[in-house]
Amino acid sequence: MLLGRVAAGINNIYTLLTTDGEDKNREREVSCRIKGKKLKGDPGRYNPIAVGDWVEFEDDLQHQGSGMIVSRQERKNVFARLNRKRGTMQTIAANMDLLVCLTSPESPPFRPRFIDRVLVAAAIGDMPVMVLVNKMDQHVDNAMRERLDVYSSIGCQVRYCSAATGEGVAEFIACIRGKDTAFVGQSGVGKSTLLNRIVPGADLAVGEITKKYNRGSHTTCFALMLKADFPGRLVDTPGIREIDIAGILPLDLGHYFPEFVPFLGDCAFSPCYHDHEPRCAVRDAVDDGRIHADRFESYLRILEQLRNNAPGYVKERRKN
Ligand code: GDP
Ligand code: ZN
Repeated sequence: MLLGRVAAGINNIYTLLTTDGEDKNREREVSCRIKGKKLKGDPGRYNPIAVGDWVEFEDDLQHQGSGMIVSRQERKNVFARLNRKRGTMQTIAANMDLLVCLTSPESPPFRPRFIDRVLVAAAIGDMPVMVLVNKMDQHVDNAMRERLDVYSSIGCQVRYCSAATGEGVAEFIACIRGKDTAFVGQSGVGKSTLLNRIVPGADLAVGEITKKYNRGSHTTCFALMLKADFPGRLVDTPGIREIDIAGILPLDLGHYFPEFVPFLGDCAFSPCYHDHEPRCAVRDAVDDGRIHADRFESYLRILEQLRNNAPGYVKERRKN
C-alpha cells in the first residue's frame, strides 16, 4: 500500500502528495477518490478526510495521476469546528505541529472572542496555537495588549509581524521552520499577504473573497497545503468566519481555559458551570482579577452555544 499526505480536498476528490511509487526521490501529486462508499471510522464527521491527513492509497494503473484512498491513518491532532448547517464536526486540518491564529489591531479590529474560540477548538483537538499579530504597523491599544498578555501567560506564544512591510516575518519563519503549520484568521487580517510572502508562487489573491482555486464559490471552507522554501508544510484555511465549538460537554468547557484550571476543584458545587452557582471559585478569581473578565465573558458565550447545540456532538465526560 502507498502512503500519501492530503494536500487539498474538494467535492470528494483529494489531492495527495507522495514520494511512494516507482521514483522515491520525486514527490508527485495523485488525485484520489475514496474507495468504496465510505471510509471506515470517524462516522460523525462531515468530512472523513482533511488536509494534513496521512492516507493509504492505490494507484489507478489505467489513469496516471489518479488513485483510490483506502484508509486513513490515525491522527495526532485535529482542528475542527461544528458545521452549524449540517450539525456535524468539520475537520479543517489534521496532524499539524502548530496552528497560527492571525489577528490584526485594526481593519479588521482585534477580535479576541474569535481567538478564544480558536484556542478552545485547538485544545479540544490537541493542537498547539500561536497568536500572530499581523499589521504591527497599526496601533495596539491597552485593551488588546492586556488580552495578548493573557495568551502569553497561558502558554500560547504571541508574535508580531507585518506582512506588508516584511517586518518580523523572518523571525516568524524561524519559529515555524521544520513544522507543519496551519494558518487561521478572520478575513482581512492579511493571511494571504503573509503566505504569498513566505510561499514563493503561492499567488493567493489579496483582499478578495473569492480566492484562487475558486474556493469562494463553495459553501464549505476547505484548506490547502502549500510548500514553502524551508522545511515543513503550510496549510491555509480560508473562509472561516465563525468557530462553533462542539465535541465536549458544557460542564467540561472550563478545562479548555488553562487559567481556570487551578480553580476548578474549589467551587462549592460540584459539578459547577461557573455561571450561576454560589461560592464559585472561578467567578471569585474573575472578581479579584486572577482571571481576565473578558476571557470569562468568552467562556460564558461558548457555554451558551454548547448548551444550544443538539446533544449528538458530545464526547464522553472527561476524566479529570
Ligand atoms: P486575508 O483576507 O487574511 O487573506 O487578508 P489579505 O492578505 O487579503 O489582506 C487584507 C488587506 O490587509 C489587504 O489590503 C492587505 O494589503 C492588507 N495588509 C496585509 N498585511 C498588512 C500589514 O502588515 N499592514 C497593513 N497595514 N496592511 C496589511
Ligand atoms: Zn464554579
